Amino acid sequence: MVIKKLLLATHNKGKLVEMSAMLAPYGVQVTSSGDLGLSEPAETENTFIGNALIKARAASAVSGLPVLADDSGLCVTALNGDPGVYSADWAGNPRDFNLAMQRVWNGIKDTTDKSAYFVSVFALRMPDGTEKIFEGRCEGQIVWPPRGTGGHGYDPFFVPNGDTRTFAEMTLQEKEQYSHRAKAFDQFIRIFD
Ligand code: IMP
Repeated sequence: MVIKKLLLATHNKGKLVEMSAMLAPYGVQVTSSGDLGLSEPAETENTFIGNALIKARAASAVSGLPVLADDSGLCVTALNGDPGVYSADWAGNPRDFNLAMQRVWNGIKDTTDKSAYFVSVFALRMPDGTEKIFEGRCEGQIVWPPRGTGGHGYDPFFVPNGDTRTFAEMTLQEKEQYSHRAKAFDQFIRIFD
């Protein structure tokens, strides 16, 4: 499949930076719904796939471009998968991820199981209406207190399995070796073969 120009349906600068870096080697021109001033649709589904499709369809309808939308979040085992699709909401408005991490920690600090995973679902919607879904996960542990200044969102208190550093203590390239988004991206990029 050939895609020359791709619209990333996100207003999240952290995600845009990560995705643009991953797409750079493929010669795809990237723009985002934030750049184009498109409004953000309400994420009313209770699954990552459902919300990714809402974003892909909304951006596709107004732009006519191939659209890649992602929905992602942190699922904590001891919280039965919360905050999950509500990961951004747990940071309140305006977003405060120190608050969100504290909420998660308050809920698990007395449990032995500190395991969690990040999940990223990509929905690709082509101008002809064809849709494809790609999913990546990164398993790890919640640590306290949070550490590191890089990354975004819940990065400072998440250590991926196989490492001792939090995502926020890694460079973007180091995070990509583990990240849920990089894994979903690896699935997605196969469509260019
Ligand atoms: P979305 O924009 O609805 O996909 O919200 C996903 C939320 O999950 C983000 O606002 C972050 O809080 C969190 N999240 C997703 N991916 C990451 C990541 O790689 N690091 C840290 N937090 C993440």
